[in-house]
Amino acid sequence: MEFASLAVLSGLPEDDPHHAVGLPIYAAAAYAFDGLEDGAHRFATNQGYTYTRIQNPTVAALEARVAALEGALGAVALASGQAASFAALLALVRAGDEIVASPGLFGGTVGLLNQVLGLFDVRVQFVPPEVDAVRAVLGERTRAVFVEVLGNPSLELPDLEGLAELCETSGVALVVDNTFGAVGALARPLEHGAHVVTHSLTKWASGHGSILGGAVLARETALWQRYPQFAQRDAQGRVPWEEFGPRCFLERVRQLGLSLGGMVLSPFNAYLLFQGLETVQLRVERASQTALQVARWLGEQPQVAWVRYPGLPEDPAHPRALRYLRGGFGSILTFGLRGGIPAVSRFMAHLRILQAPNVGDARTLAVHPWTTTHSRISEPARRAAGVGPEMVRLSVGLESPADLQAMLAEALVKLEQVAYED
Ligand SMILES: *Cc1c(COP(=O)(O)O)cnc(C)c1O
Repeated sequence: MEFASLAVLSGLPEDDPHHAVGLPIYAAAAYAFDGLEDGAHRFATNQGYTYTRIQNPTVAALEARVAALEGALGAVALASGQAASFAALLALVRAGDEIVASPGLFGGTVGLLNQVLGLFDVRVQFVPPEVDAVRAVLGERTRAVFVEVLGNPSLELPDLEGLAELCETSGVALVVDNTFGAVGALARPLEHGAHVVTHSLTKWASGHGSILGGAVLARETALWQRYPQFAQRDAQGRVPWEEFGPRCFLERVRQLGLSLGGMVLSPFNAYLLFQGLETVQLRVERASQTALQVARWLGEQPQVAWVRYPGLPEDPAHPRALRYLRGGFGSILTFGLRGGIPAVSRFMAHLRILQAPNVGDARTLAVHPWTTTHSRISEPARRAAGVGPEMVRLSVGLESPADLQAMLAEALVKLEQVAYED
């Protein structure tokens, strides 16, 4: 089945006693056993439900749908995008291991790598997500190369296939945060060779800016045989690769992130995310069309110094966008205002578009990354992440392009007045 059909048909439980059309919400903490042997079997095999911290039918339906949409072997849903990144990385490393990461990653991911994994003696090297730069720092203990499908707010696309090939031959997992790929509506990194994908489902999957959620996905691969935690006998005397095969990575994510780490997604949120996915493709396509129109229009405004949008033929990311994106070029664009921070300040003061640090909402959201999302990192690191003081980021929503342009024009005009008064 194609994406559009999977978005509405995949994951629906086949065993609902009432044949409900739609996903029931299982608000239950625990599940009753049919006697001693049944309980023992469920605990031994993780098959069948025991306790919602480990698995829940509503959450399982979401996991099945997310996996179907990205062509994954399976998925584990977690409480947030942060929880997903954390659990994915925990499953990949042991003390003394190394991770190679792109400097333009989401701020929360950088914090996780530096401040949390650092506690476990895991070292991180930040290099641009290009094959030569990554090859130069890969070492014996490198266990993951972590990149984002589309840099935020740099809007750079990594060379996914080149990195996947390098990682495959080096025995290292390529982990792609595919949040901006909108659960496959815009990008499907597993098809380009990524081993693991993480998501903040808070963004395009939810689609309405109303809840938090995350997921970890993996494809079929024999890579895990090269990891000690999967290939060697564990404390319980079991070899995860022998027991679970290619699913051993996802089993470890569930074990560390949910069963032991407790970063559990509520069944209510799973239900909302499941519904959000039914319209994700429509929303992404519509917002992409609007974003392209707005990007072109912004490029013609005298107050605007530059515009970045992967859908513009002259954009440096355009060739890779043609290769890796589908159904449009996404709903994120950035632009620079002539006059730096004073101009941005005046612009934002007169902008009727909502100003908030989220993306993938049904509403268009504007943000000034320099003073908000990226304000806590050093100036050189901010610039390395592609952020300048003159930059405004727009996450384009579902409003009409004409209304959006009118709202932007209203604020841009105030900048002309400054120049005029001067
Ligand atoms: C928002 C975001 C996260 C973190 O997700 P939360 O759901 O807010 O925890 C991680 N990566 C990217 C690219 C994001 O945009």
